[in-house]
Amino acid sequence: MRLFISVTAKDGGSMFELYPGLIIDILNFAHELRLFTILPTVYLAICQGAMMPDVLFHGVRRPDGSMAELSLQAKLTCASGSILLQQAEKQKSFKWMTELPVPSCMLTKAESRCARGGRHIFYDQFYDAAKLTYGFEPWRASWGDLLCKSCRKMSEAKHETGRYELWKFVPTAFGFGDWESLVNFV
Ligand SMILES: [Zn+2]
Repeated sequence: MRLFISVTAKDGGSMFELYPGLIIDILNFAHELRLFTILPTVYLAICQGAMMPDVLFHGVRRPDGSMAELSLQAKLTCASGSILLQQAEKQKSFKWMTELPVPSCMLTKAESRCARGGRHIFYDQFYDAAKLTYGFEPWRASWGDLLCKSCRKMSEAKHETGRYELWKFVPTAFGFGDWESLVNFV
């Protein structure tokens, strides 16, 4: 086990110092101690990190020059989990973007402003690569500005429900079943 945490005494207290590679050390630590309940969250943090996918290929250099690296199994788990979550966010958090206008849309034209708004948001969301972070983010007011009141209200509700479903899916995406079945030290 190797987990560096630099503790610095300041004014009688202490603080933990974050360092590059810490999240990888935490993951390896959690595997070693069989802390299954935190593993999905740690995997997600790695997959959402700015260093992906370099972290899979090269690892991360710690301040002391050593390398923090994932095991082969952990790399495969990150890769497959990322793909499954990217697919899931389109079916959960962002599904409302493809369902506009809603039946009660206040703009009755066949090619309504809300349908165009939905396409604009969808394009804007997925043009800038696939970043897992977005599917977990709350509703953005700027999305609502492109929709009528009815479409905005229904889409926001769908987005919140979808975010919850996406979070529920996280452990399954990384091969751990569901949240309720996770138990430490098994
Ligand atoms: Zn509408």
